[in-house]
Amino acid sequence: MSSNPKPYHDVKSTGRMTSIAHQLEWQIIGSRLGLYVRMDLFLFVVLTVMWAYMKEMEVLGEVIWRRDRSLFSASGALADVCYQVHSMEGELLLSVACYEVFWHICIFLAICFGVQLISILGAIPAVAKKVHRILRPIREIAQKTDELNRLAFSEEKYHLIEDAIDQVNPEDNHYISLHDKELLGIELAVNHLIERLKDSYRQQARFVNDASHELRTPIAVIQGYAGMLERWGRSDEKVLDESIAAISNEANHMNTLVEQLLFLARGDSGKTVLNKEPFSLNQLMQEIYEESFMIDEHHPYRFRNSEREITVNADRALLKQAVRILVDNAAKYTKEMDEIILGIGLTSEQKPYLMVEDTGIGMSEADVAHMFERFYRSDEARGYQGTGLGLSIAKWIVDRHGGHFEVISRTELGTRIMIVL
Ligand code: ATP
Ligand code: MG
Repeated sequence: MSSNPKPYHDVKSTGRMTSIAHQLEWQIIGSRLGLYVRMDLFLFVVLTVMWAYMKEMEVLGEVIWRRDRSLFSASGALADVCYQVHSMEGELLLSVACYEVFWHICIFLAICFGVQLISILGAIPAVAKKVHRILRPIREIAQKTDELNRLAFSEEKYHLIEDAIDQVNPEDNHYISLHDKELLGIELAVNHLIERLKDSYRQQARFVNDASHELRTPIAVIQGYAGMLERWGRSDEKVLDESIAAISNEANHMNTLVEQLLFLARGDSGKTVLNKEPFSLNQLMQEIYEESFMIDEHHPYRFRNSEREITVNADRALLKQAVRILVDNAAKYTKEMDEIILGIGLTSEQKPYLMVEDTGIGMSEADVAHMFERFYRSDEARGYQGTGLGLSIAKWIVDRHGGHFEVISRTELGTRIMIVL
């Protein structure tokens, strides 16, 4: 068994903290002392100038800037120092003894300094308190580090955590509870992690569940028609045609569904790699526009191109797939012969965008809030074929490019979806 090191308050670091605190205290006191000394010197200069000004006013009746002013001692002794003023022509205008005045000013300033020193001494406890407050977070970090340090050596606690994590089951509502105050931080962090894992487990489970449900329907339809074929297909040509058409339709639907599922599964497992390259957004949208009115004869398409050439650095094929998903939705949810508009441009923040706008069935606010979820379909959309995976694929692609969607939709009026990169 490893022995635990001494707790934080016993170790040398306490001494280190104290010396840091003393240094800080001295620094604060020193800077205050320096401030007082500078203030006193300033006061000395102000008082001296004021005295000289008053003397000149008293004797000469005026103070003129352009005069020679100096201190002079005939005997060289400090006690004989005089303040002298000469005119510019060299004539002595004023000579007054100033030793006594200086002496008085010095005594006055010494008293001031004494008072300042007393105030500094009186403030020492407050300074110590302030330093204590400043250092508190550092002391707490040191304490926590020390606790963690000791924890790392406590095998018993290590096993406690291990056992608790061992018992966690992603399917039930189980969180770890260590009943140890020292381990509270770890307990919270692990429980957060468990919550996140459970969330992703639940999402995965729901995804598999929804996917199997979606696959079950076409399989059941195919089985039904296969049964019909077996019984009447050989003799009844009408049944034969109907069954072949239905089986082919369901097989296509299954094929699309499996491809969508594969795309998302590959994306989730990090297998889809983006091949980013710079290309013209104008050209990409022009291409999608031309393809759209070739594939879909039931809607007129319009392309609002940007006057400026917009170049983006993105995975061209994936971005095209995302826009195709939007165009397919617009075509699916819009009445025949109603117009679908494609557009590109720059937002007010100068970000490139691609836009698809229709005048179709539209969506309520509640539908817009869920439209990017896997397998989500609005009640109105259930009359049209689809699985509810198209937009989740588009979202995966746009998210990977660091972009976002902007959606405006009104029931029975239409929808505008923008991909902003
Ligand atoms: P598929 O997976 O075959 O694309 P889908 O079109 O139903 O099926 P998504 O493309 O993911 O699935 O769209 C999700 C839902 O969002 C749709 O079912 C529909 O309710 C709504 N929606 C999307 N685009 C539009 C649109 N242009 N107009 C009206 N509703 C829309
Ligand atoms: Mg769709």
